[in-house]
Amino acid sequence: MPTEQLPVVRVPEPLLVVEDMVVNYGRIQALHGISLTVGQGELITLLGANGAGKTTTMRALSGLLPLTRGRITFQGRDITRMKAHERVVAGLIQAPEGRGVFPGMTVQENLDMGCHARPFKVKAEYNQTLDWVFELFPRLAERRRQVGGTLSGGEQQMLAIGRALMARPELLLLDEPSMGLAPMVIQQIFRIIADINAGGTTVLLVEQNAQQALTRSDRAYILETGGVTKTGLGGDLLHDPAVKSAYLGVG
Ligand code: ATP
Repeated sequence: MPTEQLPVVRVPEPLLVVEDMVVNYGRIQALHGISLTVGQGELITLLGANGAGKTTTMRALSGLLPLTRGRITFQGRDITRMKAHERVVAGLIQAPEGRGVFPGMTVQENLDMGCHARPFKVKAEYNQTLDWVFELFPRLAERRRQVGGTLSGGEQQMLAIGRALMARPELLLLDEPSMGLAPMVIQQIFRIIADINAGGTTVLLVEQNAQQALTRSDRAYILETGGVTKTGLGGDLLHDPAVKSAYLGVG
């Protein structure tokens, strides 16, 4: 499938490069050869409707699904066959799908689970990271002794992102963080994602919420039935007639 490239896109030093990625579920091909690049410090959105292949892409990037064909390069290193836990150690960290908060553990204990794969060498670093997470999510600080299962949907999403941040990702992968949340909470979550990115963390986001995601992104890729059909600057795509009619309900 050819990818339409909207004009003037300058990609910074690449952090993640995906080339011709094909992923199958048995005989069914879910991804037909996806190529994309995430530059150092960027906030990138992968936008697509239901069934386009967004979750499959994230799972393949995390190492949870094998590639049938193609290559993934992270920080200049070929990680195509690297195991999921090794990718986490390398700094490719996905906030758990469907939030994945441990319901019986407190907020604090959930956050502590986040640094298991990449333990801190010194306590001061742990404290600093925890302070950073609580600064981003004051609500979590207020509720640090509350168990995860009793948090609201929005708070659980915050906790899932906060837990991923405790592993100090080089690249943070977020799979539909706005799913099932009220509009006010969605805005808040997107604002925080932009803050995380502004603080220096590179972010790859998959979303159906086009308005918020494109407004906040440096660049975006449009995914349709397992292939990238269009790519460009977030702001340009927001005003693209085809994107507007397909994802923004206008035009
Ligand atoms: P949604 O937003 O609805 O979650 P998505 O863009 O994340 O959609 P995927 O979940 O990646 O889409 O699915 C892509 C395609 O792969 C779909 O056609 C889906 O039916 C198929 N698929 C996903 N998981 C499996 C599976 N375990 N076995 C077979 N086919 C699957």
